[in-house]
Amino acid sequence: MPFTYDEDGLLCADGHPTSELAQKFGTPLYVYSADGFLAHLAAFQQAVAPVNGKVHFAVKANANLALLSLMAQQGAGADIVSGGEMQRALAAGIAPQDIVFSGVGKTDDEIRLALAKNIGQINAESPEEIKHIEAIASEWGLKAPVAIRVNPDIDAKSHEKISTGQKSTKFGIPIATGEAEAVYDYIHNSPHLVARGLAVHIGSQLTDLAPFKAAYQTLIALADGFRAKGYDVPILDLGGGLGIDYHGEETPDFAAYGALVSSLFSGLDYQLGFEPGRSIAADNGILLTSALYTKASEEKDFIIVDAAMNDLLRPTLYEAYHRIEPIQQSNRAKRLSDIVGPVCETGDYLARGRDFPSVESGEVVAVFNAGAYGSVMASNYNTRAMPAEILIHQGEVHLIKPRKTIEDLLNDEHNPFAE
Ligand SMILES: *Cc1c(COP(=O)(O)O)cnc(C)c1O
Repeated sequence: MPFTYDEDGLLCADGHPTSELAQKFGTPLYVYSADGFLAHLAAFQQAVAPVNGKVHFAVKANANLALLSLMAQQGAGADIVSGGEMQRALAAGIAPQDIVFSGVGKTDDEIRLALAKNIGQINAESPEEIKHIEAIASEWGLKAPVAIRVNPDIDAKSHEKISTGQKSTKFGIPIATGEAEAVYDYIHNSPHLVARGLAVHIGSQLTDLAPFKAAYQTLIALADGFRAKGYDVPILDLGGGLGIDYHGEETPDFAAYGALVSSLFSGLDYQLGFEPGRSIAADNGILLTSALYTKASEEKDFIIVDAAMNDLLRPTLYEAYHRIEPIQQSNRAKRLSDIVGPVCETGDYLARGRDFPSVESGEVVAVFNAGAYGSVMASNYNTRAMPAEILIHQGEVHLIKPRKTIEDLLNDEHNPFAE
């Protein structure tokens, strides 16, 4: 456990007092444990080792170059969803062949970049996208390696905005209508496409194995059918989506997930790919923020802190729950409180309706499970500089993303009208 309280009740990050980290680097501050990331990655890799699974870390969960490099050194590839993430993964030293390019809206420029860089696999999500990939490959005299992401029409039973497996969502090519089969026929017959297999990703923060099982069984039936037609289906890409414990959720661990996968795929002779993001990253990061003011009202307190929705969007975007605690434990009285940021939006909160101890101005508070879908969604809304980010690796603290100054932000713009 990277984030634990010492005997004096002070929160430490891999042994470093978070009070000192906040002092040295300022707040808001993202703090990551590299050892935690690598331990989770190793556990996932071990869980899928019996089926020879290859892990492609979902870069969109946490895109820091330093973390990607460390994970690559431990054998992880990357699942990417944009040309920007591709360049990031390559810059971190991930081999092109270990990169899987997902996403519903790849531009021609992004497809060109993928082909120019010799990316291992493009997961296509529509017949029109296939035509674009084919046209570019044909123009360049290449054969593009494509898999298709299918839509199995399965409810992941997660939050609506992160469920991706139902036919009502924009993701994947439907199986039930025959479209997936028609597209695979097309790929098989194209001189400029190489069929690499099938992919499925039905959503994120899944807390039950049943939807995975249903999706994977659907995938196997489809792939076996394609093989029976004489088509090549070397790879089945099983996506990410394993949930974590934000608020007492009982989530399957890597071993249980691995056991499910082994029970379904052992002996089937498919190369398996996995794209975990959240389950590797979330609990290996925290966001430190300083209390500014406490504003009491009849009903509750508003604890105003220096981190806001622009620093951690999940509570605002998904009503997501993050555990929040002062970094110094104590026996103070608690009051019903909202923990809110300085941004001028009523939706700007980190937590609502918590029983929270009174905090003094300047006191540091930790937001837990912030290692996934945290810093990657940060913005400069309200002309606020984004948080700095530090990484602790084998006991050493590294500043992996310095905080920009407001001057930096202003210099990003051109103003033809300044006098
Ligand atoms: C977001 C995403 C993932 C990662 O999902 P997690 O829930 O973070 O594990 C994997 N694959 C695809 C295609 C994605 O879009």
